[in-house]
Amino acid sequence: MGENLNLFTSTQYVINDALAKLGYTEEMYELLKEPVRMLTVRIPVRMDDGTIQVFTGYRAQHNDAVGPTKGGVRFHPEVDEEEVKALSMWMSLKCGIVDLPYGGGKGGIICDPRTMSFAELEKLSRGYVRAISQIVGPTKDIPAPDVYTNSQIMAWMMDEYSRLRENDSPGFITGKPIVLGGSQGREKATAQGVTICIEEAAKKRNINIKGARVVIQGFGNAGSFLAKFMHDAGAKVVAISDAHGALYDQDGLDIDYLLDRRDSFGTVTTLFENTISNKELLELECDILVPAAISNQITSENAHNIKAAIVVEAANGPTTFEATKILSERGILLVPDVLASAGGVTVSYFEWVQNNQGYYWSEEEVNEKLHAKLVSAFNNVYETSENRRVNMRLAAYMVGARKMAEASRFRGWV
Ligand code: NAD
Repeated sequence: MGENLNLFTSTQYVINDALAKLGYTEEMYELLKEPVRMLTVRIPVRMDDGTIQVFTGYRAQHNDAVGPTKGGVRFHPEVDEEEVKALSMWMSLKCGIVDLPYGGGKGGIICDPRTMSFAELEKLSRGYVRAISQIVGPTKDIPAPDVYTNSQIMAWMMDEYSRLRENDSPGFITGKPIVLGGSQGREKATAQGVTICIEEAAKKRNINIKGARVVIQGFGNAGSFLAKFMHDAGAKVVAISDAHGALYDQDGLDIDYLLDRRDSFGTVTTLFENTISNKELLELECDILVPAAISNQITSENAHNIKAAIVVEAANGPTTFEATKILSERGILLVPDVLASAGGVTVSYFEWVQNNQGYYWSEEEVNEKLHAKLVSAFNNVYETSENRRVNMRLAAYMVGARKMAEASRFRGWV
């Protein structure tokens, strides 16, 4: 597969490949190659200057054989129909990998929230829920935050849905503020999940986390919490980066100081003079490399120069397919994004469970359950990779696809 296929086509390729390896027929691929449902909506919003602006939004539901669909809603100028479809398919795989009782969903609105006021964002969020209300709900499809959406937006959406249904429905959406039924531990869940995957991968490679040299690309929500967890576990975080450059110290960086100085966009390197580039950061001598920023960072150009023993993908799609092949041929253990970044959706699931039962857990309980889920998911993928002699990425896709394919078969759909 080329390095420049669009996301939708490459996702179809991945699902086809995983199903073929599992021995499913072409008919199963026909069912799973696109979402079962895709709704496009137009949302009129009266802006602060009195004019009406009409926004386009989407909600895709990939496969609901396992259970209700689940996935975030992003607000971004570059949202498009194919991307939303592809992301709903990725969510199906992710939910299958972590063994959640969900299929994948995804939503998006074409807008630029950075240029909109609070009042405009509230009207847009509520308008979106009114427009998609027929196909969503706690037992149908459960949205969550994604790029440029947050707990405040989830709160407005939950309130709008509850008003429409005339009953309080916290289980309609996850990622809510704690007072409205949000879960403890949600904010740090992605980084917790990455940490658990690092610990499990380190065991497989006989690397002791205490003293291990860790390099992290990106110092935002995922990267900065991860740096803190690694630092607290006794690892030596030797390099971190942001969009402007990277900091490196072979004796280990002062993570608490950097956390204190970073801004809300995850920027900290601009405060220092002796920086290196993000390209140099990726090729540093280390035990564990964690891309936690943007996609397409490890490519066929630099995969031969990666010196880490373990690469754990906290970001979405940081390694191309060609680079995945090169890393696995070189014996580098790659923990793929669909597994490593599944902590967020797992705690979202816990939030929904707590909402449904009306009984709330402590942060320790959430972390304990997250640990159990991810250790089991990691080992399931690892064993599939060993037994079927495929790389960890394909193994993860096989584990993820198997559950929805089995559920579709038992229901008699294929
Ligand atoms: P964020 O916006 O909080 O932080 C992004 C970080 O990456 C910042 O430090 C930014 O400066 C840096 N960055 C941006 N462009 C860069 C570049 N060209 N080179 C190097 N660094 C660059 O984002 P986040 O929430 O931490 O997410 C990071 C990645 O993790 C994304 O790929 C995201 O999809 C993935 N992810 C995040 C979550 C989550 O819950 N936060 C869940 C699943 C996956």
